[in-house]
Amino acid sequence: MNDFTAEPAELVAAMEAAASRVIRSGYYVLGPEVRAFEAAWAAQCGARFGIGVGNGMDAIEIGLRAMEIGPGDEVITTPMTAFATVLAIMRSGATPVLADIDPETALLDSDSVARCIGPRTRAVVVVHLYGRSADLPHWENFCRERGIALIEDCAQAHLARSAGRPVGSVGAFGAWSFYPTKNLGAIGDGGMLVTQDEALAQKAASLRNYGQSVRYHHPLLGMNSRLDELQAALLGARLRWLPAFTARRRAIAQSYHEGLANPAVRPLPVAVDVESHVHHLFVVTTTHRDELQKHLEAKQVQTYVHYPIPVHRQPPAQAIRCDVDGLHHSEVHGRSCLSLPCHPGLSDDEVRFVVAAVNDFKP
Ligand SMILES: *Cc1c(COP(=O)(O)O)cnc(C)c1O
Repeated sequence: MNDFTAEPAELVAAMEAAASRVIRSGYYVLGPEVRAFEAAWAAQCGARFGIGVGNGMDAIEIGLRAMEIGPGDEVITTPMTAFATVLAIMRSGATPVLADIDPETALLDSDSVARCIGPRTRAVVVVHLYGRSADLPHWENFCRERGIALIEDCAQAHLARSAGRPVGSVGAFGAWSFYPTKNLGAIGDGGMLVTQDEALAQKAASLRNYGQSVRYHHPLLGMNSRLDELQAALLGARLRWLPAFTARRRAIAQSYHEGLANPAVRPLPVAVDVESHVHHLFVVTTTHRDELQKHLEAKQVQTYVHYPIPVHRQPPAQAIRCDVDGLHHSEVHGRSCLSLPCHPGLSDDEVRFVVAAVNDFKP
């Protein structure tokens, strides 16, 4: 599913140079490397501000807290996501509410969200799941008409665009993860909140650093969640490779779409707008998921399931209010989805091998 030891020698050399620069600088936390990478990533996202934080989950929590969304407020999101999305809402003190997904794309379904809205709803967190951007013009209107905030979980969607606009630039804020396996990953944990709102950016910058305004003054109840200089420098080096890596992911996805021809296995639909999908994961669905996974494993093809247990089936989340019509599509998807290898280090031969292995699966 990933192979970091097979990265291009030129990239490895650039990361070693970046690491060495930080070690020799004597500056390790919230210094020039973080400022430079915040500016570079915010510009990439078409956002005015970028606030480097410890990880993607904290980016969501800090953003919610900066918007003063917390106890007594409800935030609607999807159960088909990394648990961190919902955990961040809980950590902010707000109450998550779960809406169902669109069975075609596995993205949050707005009819279901509409059913979940109540007097305490403050925001919707859309997740650009698997690297496929949600329809942001649609969500923008949906949220504006209802007087609630749109928040984007962009952890899987580096460089994705919706109707020409970078994801993360449209909502009140966009939350990014730079966990190693993400499309842009550090050599450890990292995250960023991007926003167009200066006041929100300032508050987030304070919250990530003990709620400090100026040294030794703490007007806010903050936390410690900072992107460090080493990770920022490494991410800056890796950012130069992201367009090429994204193109490679798209080429692999296209090969899968062209090659997969097993009637028992259905890939999620092709993105009509190529820019809207960065293929963090290539997901197929089949009613024989566990059998297919075993079949591929026997041929040494590694696969994962994103995600086998929807959020509302996790013990800390069992009391969460859900769509009154249920979360049927999320449950079906959780039982039938399988992620095939899709990363820039995969060779054409390996892609052909996976295609052949899926095609000769007989349930
Ligand atoms: C990875 C991920 C997160 C959490 O990011 P971390 O950096 O691991 O905290 C949140 N949401 C989604 C959709 C993710 O894929």
